Amino acid sequence: MKRNLSVSQAETFQTCSYKWQLKYQRGLSKDTVEADAMSLGSLVHDGLAAALFSYADDQINSRDMDTDIALVDAKLEIETLGAEQLVASINELDTEKILEFKAMLQTAILLVRLTIEDIDIPKNYNIVLVDVEGETVPLIEHWLEYPVENTDFIFRGIVDAVLEDKNDGTIEVVDWKTRAKFSNDTAEQLKMQIGIYQYMLEKMYGMYVPMGTIYQIKSELSKSPIHNADGSLNKTRAKYQSHKVVSVIRNREIQKRLWFNLVSHATRIYDITLDYDDNDDNDDNDLPRAYGMPCSWCEFRDICYAELHGYDADSIIKSSYKEKE
Ligand code: SF4
Repeated sequence: MKRNLSVSQAETFQTCSYKWQLKYQRGLSKDTVEADAMSLGSLVHDGLAAALFSYADDQINSRDMDTDIALVDAKLEIETLGAEQLVASINELDTEKILEFKAMLQTAILLVRLTIEDIDIPKNYNIVLVDVEGETVPLIEHWLEYPVENTDFIFRGIVDAVLEDKNDGTIEVVDWKTRAKFSNDTAEQLKMQIGIYQYMLEKMYGMYVPMGTIYQIKSELSKSPIHNADGSLNKTRAKYQSHKVVSVIRNREIQKRLWFNLVSHATRIYDITLDYDDNDDNDDNDLPRAYGMPCSWCEFRDICYAELHGYDADSIIKSSYKEKE
């Protein structure tokens, strides 16, 4: 029987095995929506997808791609999702949190705007389209699934976007990462993810994807204003600031070597899973923590903080997390 392994599970394990233990073994997830980095990241992610779907719609219907309309669509998506999250968590949030949350929505909208203007799709890119059962589908937030040769694994994952460079026809797989700080370490970790998507696109669609691109998007904006007095965007200041907000890392080869690294990671994860006894209360049984950079984005950081400082982590888990049955 084939065993499932998601790219994100392998990536999580590679980032921090203790995080993998909390998330996939113990099944913990945040119970409340907070105006934090995690929420900002998902709003930016969804806003970028909405903007790209808007471009793809123009492309499929042979219309000129319109940046303004794409940005309005992204804004609406972020505001709708933000409103849904706010309503879902309204009993949990105090007034200060609601204001924080609203400010976060504005930041997410601006980050999407700066990223889209930095990529400049109408000038630089087309969205790659594929035929799926007779339907034209843009490769945006697209589900990829493929069996790993000579193993009993199937990899599954969602690719953020696949774009075609209008200048030279190069196809590139794109991954968005919202980050507190730009990091080359992150690029190293993500090469595996990019490599596997390149490989899967080749296998599933016969598509040669020589380029992998990671957009690291800062979670904070500088304080200098980028709007004119009438509220419109000052394009010169926005362009200047986008260089500080978006960092682009490109990786020029299909790295099949990384594909095989990921397979060995998968095997390791399953070996650990088989040996690991989650019901054992002995803390020595915990997998190693990563510490450092990944913690600033980790949904479990308050658990780790409590455990490492001798506070009552169990009560934090009870009050702020859901645990799988
Ligand atoms: S806070 Fe850091 S050490 Fe703790 S689980 Fe998350 S990434 Fe690992």
